Amino acid sequence: MVRPERRTVRDLRRGNRAVLLRTLYFEGPTSRHELSGLTGLSAASVSNVTGDLITDNVVVEAGLVESDGGRPRVLLRVNPEFGYAIGVDVGETHVRVELFDLDMNERAKAEYPLRPARHDVDLVVRHILAGIEAVLAAGDVDPARVLGVGIGVPGIVESGPESLIHAQTFGWDAVPLGTLLRAGTSLPLYIDNGAKTMGQAELWFGAGRGTRHTIVALIGSGAGASIITDGITYRGANSSAGEWGHTKIAVGGRPCRCGGRGCLEAYIGAESILERAGLSIEIPDEQAALADLVREGGPVIEETADYLGAGLANLINLFNPERIVIGGWAGLMLGQHHLTRIKRSAADNSLTQPYETASIVLGRLGPDAVALGAATLVVEDFLLAKAVSPEQRPAAV
Ligand SMILES: [Zn+2]
Repeated sequence: MVRPERRTVRDLRRGNRAVLLRTLYFEGPTSRHELSGLTGLSAASVSNVTGDLITDNVVVEAGLVESDGGRPRVLLRVNPEFGYAIGVDVGETHVRVELFDLDMNERAKAEYPLRPARHDVDLVVRHILAGIEAVLAAGDVDPARVLGVGIGVPGIVESGPESLIHAQTFGWDAVPLGTLLRAGTSLPLYIDNGAKTMGQAELWFGAGRGTRHTIVALIGSGAGASIITDGITYRGANSSAGEWGHTKIAVGGRPCRCGGRGCLEAYIGAESILERAGLSIEIPDEQAALADLVREGGPVIEETADYLGAGLANLINLFNPERIVIGGWAGLMLGQHHLTRIKRSAADNSLTQPYETASIVLGRLGPDAVALGAATLVVEDFLLAKAVSPEQRPAAV
C-alpha cells in the first residue's frame, strides 16, 4: 500500500522555492512585489524564500524599478553564473557539444563530424567526453560549477540508470549510453531523444513560448514529434511516444528505414524526398540537394507538402494542440517555401474545429537547437529547486 505523503515545512519551503525560481527564470528581472502577485505567495513568504535564494547566490539583484509613489523596488533575477549546463547533440553527421550559462548564452562549443553509416557507439562516447573537456577548457569553467550534461540522441531512450538507447537508424540496439559515459565523467547526465530536446527548446525560448498544448514536429533525414500537453512532454509507458515519423500514411506503402512500410517518414524525411525525386545523395550533401529541390518546387515537393499536411492533421485530430511548430532542417526548408500548401492539406485532412484552434508556425531556433534543448533538461532539474550550490550536491553515481 502506498502511504500518503506527509508534507513537512521543508517540503513546503522547497515548493515555494521552486515556484519563485521558475517565475524568476521565465519572467526575467522581477520585484518581490510582482513575484507575490505572479505566484500568489504572501509578501512574507516571498521575502523569506528570496532571502535564502540570494544567500545561496542562486538569485542576484538586477537594478531598481520605480514604484507608484513608494521607494524604488529592487529587481531580482536568476544568477546566470550560478552554474553551467552542457548540451550535446548526437546527430546523423556530427556530435556537437555546447556549454551554456543559466541564461542559455553559449560560452563554448566543440564539434566532431561523424561519417554517415558510421555511428560506432564507442566513437560517439569518445567524442562526447572529449567535447565536455574541450568546452570546459575553452569556456574556462570549473567542472564543479557544471550542473549537468544533457544529451539529445536519436531513437528511443528508456528511462533508467543505464539509459538504454534503441536507435535503429544508427544500428544501436539497447546501447547503455549512460553507463558507457559514466566511465569517463562524474557529471550528472540527462539523456533524451533529440526531437524531445528540440521541442523543449522551442517551448521555452522559441515559437512555442507561452503555450501549454504544443507539438513540435521535426523533420530532418527522418521525422519525429515532441508532444507537449499542459506544459509537460508526453512520454508514454517507456518514453517512446512521439515516433510520429513511423505512423502509417499508406498501408503497404514505401519501405521505411525502420523496416516497416508506408510510414510518414518514408514520404517526408529528407532522404525519402530525394529518393522519390530520383536523386541518390550521400548524407553530407543532403541539405544542399534538398534546398535546391525545395526551391524549384515540382510534383515531388508538392506531394511532400500534402503528406506533411496530412501528418500534421493526424496530430491535430489526436491531440488538439493550440500550436504546431514545424522544425528540423528539412521541415524549415519545406515550411519556408510551401507553408500555404502544407496548411491547406492539414485543413483538408483535419476535423474543422480542432484545425481552426491550432496555429501552424515555423520554428524560431533554427535546426541546431538540439544541444540547447538538451541543456534545458539540466536547467529543468535546477528549477525544481534542487538548487543547492554545485559544491553542495551529492556526488553523482
Ligand atoms: Zn518507419
